[in-house]
Amino acid sequence: MITMKFGGTSVGDLQRLQDVASIVQSYVPERPVVVASAMSGVTNLLLETATHALHRDAEAVKKNIESLKEKHLNVANTLLKDAARHRELINNQTTLIEELANLYRGVSLLKELSSRSLDAIASYGEILSCLQLAALLKDYNVPVEFVDARTLIRTDHHFGEASVDFDVTNRNIQTLLLPKVEQGIVPVITGFIATTDDCITTTLGRSGSDYTGSIVGAALDADEIWIWTDVDGVMTADPRYVNGAKVLPEISYREAAEMSYFGAKVIHPKTMMPAIEKNIPIRIKNTFNPSYAGTLISKKSGSSGSVVKNITSIDHLSIVSIEGNGMMGVPGVSARIFSSLARVGVNVMMISQASSEHNVCFVVPQKDCERALAELRKEFDIDLARKMIDDITVEDQVSIVAIVGEGMKGTRGIAGKTFTAVANADVNLVAIAQGSSELNISFVVKQAEVRKAVQAIHDVFHLN
Ligand code: ASP
Ligand code: MG
Repeated sequence: MITMKFGGTSVGDLQRLQDVASIVQSYVPERPVVVASAMSGVTNLLLETATHALHRDAEAVKKNIESLKEKHLNVANTLLKDAARHRELINNQTTLIEELANLYRGVSLLKELSSRSLDAIASYGEILSCLQLAALLKDYNVPVEFVDARTLIRTDHHFGEASVDFDVTNRNIQTLLLPKVEQGIVPVITGFIATTDDCITTTLGRSGSDYTGSIVGAALDADEIWIWTDVDGVMTADPRYVNGAKVLPEISYREAAEMSYFGAKVIHPKTMMPAIEKNIPIRIKNTFNPSYAGTLISKKSGSSGSVVKNITSIDHLSIVSIEGNGMMGVPGVSARIFSSLARVGVNVMMISQASSEHNVCFVVPQKDCERALAELRKEFDIDLARKMIDDITVEDQVSIVAIVGEGMKGTRGIAGKTFTAVANADVNLVAIAQGSSELNISFVVKQAEVRKAVQAIHDVFHLN
């Protein structure tokens, strides 16, 4: 049994939907369990329309609902051959879109848009998408059944990014879904969405369909969990940045998690968790090249030769430095910094403190930097006035570069080789951090220089 997750681009237009249908059809003997996302762009459109509704921009709401309707009805009208099935899908789609329009009306009337309402609204993307995929697969003679994940996946009330209750969820999947699979049914399950124990719709966080795929695969004890995407697998670096970037045949769960935290947009970081627990391999596969093996993510790191597996980078960041003699040996300064950031919901991506304790610096998304800075100035106003802290400074337009590889642990000279390569490429290092897991070395450079740095490291470790 193989769980297969198809993302938004894979189900995002007529051609791609037909490709997906052929792929699923060809794997029927392996007993596939399908999980799919909303059509690409739809989740964003749904959420953006909610904001228009909140601002009572009825014109914009109407326009977006029309475009949503057109997008989905077009799939039904163009792809479905069976007349009865076509009629049924059109009816379902129309009813769902009317419901959605009512939700937007509610938001407008109340002038209130909670994260709970946003989840309810966002859920329509996956429902519309999976209903049409299921109908299409029936046309391809696949014995499918549409499954709303809300009947299976139970979460807490943390709307927008809810936490899964695995006891209830696994039990539901084993008692409600497994018997269907055993009967030879191919379920088509909505990614991303779930419910609370009192039946309120939640979501698992943006791009959460990968996570759904892995939750389902783990609960079913699948042989493998496949994440279908539009590249051949996890690469040594972003091929748009680096000449000679190539696909990694095998990486470990830990490497995959580390890479996804540092910007390799291949897989949602949480996806690894359920798979690790059951020791089920995850495979990244390309819908454009379905016979290619892809990248296998499992317990072992594989033997690709180099200890460094991959170099990733994240752009559009700011580095904030807090400096002052008054910080030395004073407990609680870091706690105050990070509590301030947590209060305003700013995610810290990297931290570095020299052992002199004279300077603490950390990296945040540039879009959040102003908010972070305002809160920090408030928190430290007295310290700043008394010159305990000299200044809080910001440098925008920086990037984090991370090199990842399980074999780096205990191998000497990796950092030396990396930084020599960066220096030889004439790139200045703004800050450095290495986690004690030794799985990752990350550093900050000016965004304008990031390509040069990544290429230099890729070359020095012969990743091509
Ligand atoms: N449709 C959701 C999103 O765009 C979930 C997903 O695509 O995985 O975030
Ligand atoms: Mg997506």
